[in-house]
Amino acid sequence: MAGLLSITEPSDNTQTPTAFATASDIPMTPTTYSREDIAALFDLPLMDLLLRAQTVHREHFAANEVQISTLLSIKTGNCPEDCGYCSQSGHHRDKTKLQAEKRLAVDKVIAAAKRAKASGSSRFCMGAAWKHPSEKDMPYVVELIKEVKGLGLETCMTLGMLSPNQAEQLSEAGLDYYNHNLDTSRSYYEQVVSTRTYDERLDTLAHVRQSGINVCSGNIVGMGESRDDRIDWVHELLKMPKPPESIPVNLLVPIAGTPLGDKVIAEGELSVLEWIRTIAVTRICCPSSYVRLSAGRESLSDAEQALAFMAGANSFFYGDKLLTTGNASQSGDQRLMRTLGLTPMYAKPRAPKVLPVVDAISGHESQMVLAE
Ligand code: SF4
Repeated sequence: MAGLLSITEPSDNTQTPTAFATASDIPMTPTTYSREDIAALFDLPLMDLLLRAQTVHREHFAANEVQISTLLSIKTGNCPEDCGYCSQSGHHRDKTKLQAEKRLAVDKVIAAAKRAKASGSSRFCMGAAWKHPSEKDMPYVVELIKEVKGLGLETCMTLGMLSPNQAEQLSEAGLDYYNHNLDTSRSYYEQVVSTRTYDERLDTLAHVRQSGINVCSGNIVGMGESRDDRIDWVHELLKMPKPPESIPVNLLVPIAGTPLGDKVIAEGELSVLEWIRTIAVTRICCPSSYVRLSAGRESLSDAEQALAFMAGANSFFYGDKLLTTGNASQSGDQRLMRTLGLTPMYAKPRAPKVLPVVDAISGHESQMVLAE
């Protein structure tokens, strides 16, 4: 990807700003943002947009604190879904040649969580390439949640679709966040995935919300979608009963052999500045959410990442690998944080809903349900 100074904005699928709405034309209360408001925010001159995003950010978060997460793949590859950007899909494995792996043993996951904590992460995210967890997988993931929480880390999982009952089981174990990305707009979605519907994604997010787990749901920009699609995706977040607490804004890492990776490699990548705009608009419209830099950071310069934090991002993934794609190096991140004067946030794990209780006299085992 080109460096910041060599980028010409806009690229083919980016629209030229037309409205030049001023920040004062757009209401401050997030619940009042209409689709037109979101479009007007995208159209603001970049410096006006960044100023507004940074102002909103400082009203809701400590200005120079970032939340740091580490992501581990606990079951890799051969996924039955056909997400067009993903090397883990079994539909693309003939081309991507990704080696599938079985479930990772619990002790290996715990060892990785300990390393993540020691290197400064406050949240440990575990991802499995499943359509949904099977019933036989549930005791495994519940054990992982309890063990990782026992280390004092926040926990996050991304396991595919969840039934209401599965969401409840994860909540009872104390899971802090569940990630399930919408990926894009409803209308562009059919270009991205065909094996699960947009409404199924929204259903899983509703089950997660209902269970009391914090919702993590983001997008991937640069998959060939238009700015209208990016506007619609932000609008979709605001149509939820409450915006997700955590919103990863990914920049596509084009992987050769995946349909969308091949398309972007052939047609050209989206301007990094359009990704920055998407972060800024997300920050303004979802002021209390953590806006996370995820995939795509590896190829960005320090200046581009600094601009993303200026746009209101306050969370990022740490570690040399994001599931199966590369990530910015840990030593590089530590240097970047020192250079920018950023400090890590502390973990604030939620208590499990249900605690095991053993009667001291009879030895009878029961469960205590804790109030939310
Ligand atoms: S993004 Fe997730 S659900 Fe989609 S193919 Fe990859 S692992 Fe499977």
